Amino acid sequence: MTTQPSPFIYRCSRCGREYPGDTLRYTCPVDGGNLDIILDYQRLRRELAPTRFPGEDAEPSLWRYRALLPVAPPPTQGTPLQRVGWTPIYALPRLRAVLGLPHLWFKDESPNPTASFKDRASAIVLAHARQIGADVVITASTGNAGAALAGLAAASGQRAVILAPERAPQAKIAQLLIYGARVILIQGTYDDAFDLSVQAAQQLGWYCRNTGYNPFTAEGKKTAAFEIWEQRVRAEPDATWHIFIPVGDGNIISGVYKGFWDLHQLGWLPVLPRLHGVQAEGSAAIAHAFFAGRDEITPVEARTLADSIAVNLPRDGWRALRAVRQTGGQYWVVSDEAILAAMRELGQHGVFVEPAAAAAYAGLRAALAAGALSPDDRILVLLTGSGLKDVAAAMRAVPSAPRIPPDLNALQRVLTHDMTS
Ligand SMILES: *Cc1c(COP(=O)(O)O)cnc(C)c1O
Ligand SMILES: [Zn+2]
Repeated sequence: MTTQPSPFIYRCSRCGREYPGDTLRYTCPVDGGNLDIILDYQRLRRELAPTRFPGEDAEPSLWRYRALLPVAPPPTQGTPLQRVGWTPIYALPRLRAVLGLPHLWFKDESPNPTASFKDRASAIVLAHARQIGADVVITASTGNAGAALAGLAAASGQRAVILAPERAPQAKIAQLLIYGARVILIQGTYDDAFDLSVQAAQQLGWYCRNTGYNPFTAEGKKTAAFEIWEQRVRAEPDATWHIFIPVGDGNIISGVYKGFWDLHQLGWLPVLPRLHGVQAEGSAAIAHAFFAGRDEITPVEARTLADSIAVNLPRDGWRALRAVRQTGGQYWVVSDEAILAAMRELGQHGVFVEPAAAAAYAGLRAALAAGALSPDDRILVLLTGSGLKDVAAAMRAVPSAPRIPPDLNALQRVLTHDMTS
């Protein structure tokens, strides 16, 4: 089945100005606002039916939603591109019982080909680059966006250039290099890499994937909302849903909002789930603006072990505020200690996530402690990346293992100590 990409226009999220969708645009030329991609909802409403969408034989990946995507799907057969998205949802029954939340769910993004949520965005951006004949795609990244671009570009035979801060976790840098991308480590912050990549793209005529700059990343990320709807929400249209999402630049939460908003425009989802943004205490520029009731976001000097959400100036902050305000959600701020505790706790239920993902669960813990959730609520925590992405952080979350000589007595001494302590 070949589907034409869904026709669209761009609309500025700040001033509402609209621009034709005939060329690649990044941000609004008037006020620098992030651009939303607006589909032809009237036509889609006529052509699609919610109960039969996307259909029983739809493929088990984000490409099942091609009718609602502004890009033509690339050939995926026989490559890792065929398994981006359609990630599992877990109940973790023992954890539900501990928390007293019988309708709690976890969506695990680590089965994506490069082990993070970012594959959703990179898949769609690469499809768009291919469609418009762009040769080289560049991105700045704290690690995961770059790994996703590098891995999927390798899968599709496209060329990727990645600018990452030199202090990115080793596993993420290893991924970039193994996938054969052109990798340049920047002696500076993610924000420095961001500015440099935009300049390079302009100078060299390259296609720029940057999060919170390229409008197509949110179109990839919205597919998580489609999945949450298809996997859970559609069956319980009257329930109150709360979704916990870790926030750095704010593009994941904006993308998830966009997915639910698309479904609402189609008339398939009467009430949008409440979106809860979770930021690390030391990197909470968006949460600060939310608490102060302001629209303007003041940059911070980011300090957190959760590198994927360590951002000085969030590039999608305005839409990240809108997503939470429009859905009646909240922002939550969590400490690095709470993030490590969350990693440990999830691990004990068989789920190994990186610090940024654990932050979403720490946010749920904070909301629960604040009395903001009830046992009737439907709750989903978005676990955005695998724990293998940042082994050093994982080692900080747990006590080290005892070391003994290969000797039964020594083993017995350790085990006795375990049982008595
Ligand atoms: C990028 C990332 C986030 C944060 O997404 P933003 O769009 O920057 O808010 C959270 N978790 C993981 C694992 C990520 O890679
Ligand atoms: Zn504008």
